[in-house]
Amino acid sequence: MTDSNDTVFGRILRGEIPCDQVYADEYCLAFRDLTPQAPLHVLVIPREHLISLGQAEQRHGELLGHLLLVAAKVARQEGFDSFRTVINTGAEAGQTVFHLHLHVLGGRSLGWPPG
Ligand code: AMP
Repeated sequence: MTDSNDTVFGRILRGEIPCDQVYADEYCLAFRDLTPQAPLHVLVIPREHLISLGQAEQRHGELLGHLLLVAAKVARQEGFDSFRTVINTGAEAGQTVFHLHLHVLGGRSLGWPPG
């Protein structure tokens, strides 16, 4: 990581603020959302600071696939085989933390289309 990653998730990755961790490996970290929108609401974030999916390049393909596999693993580990993964990209789409993250939501009926 070459930038300062002055986001709340950068601070979590550096251990400066705590999180309720559910999974970690050398590429990513998964922890419970501070303001859960469903009984299962976990965030999966890469250790590399990617601002959003919009900044992803071809070289990130393997990492992005890994994040999806971890999302499924975490949902399974938490006892959910029905779940939704969401990636908000850009402020208009609802992104508030500018470090790429996957939301993993489950445990209640989720409407479609999303609001
Ligand atoms: P987004 O709006 O897609 O950028 O999602 C950011 C998410 O990060 C929101 O669901 C917040 O509730 C969550 N969040 C913000 N700060 C923290 C934190 N310190 N620990 C866990 N989740 C957080």
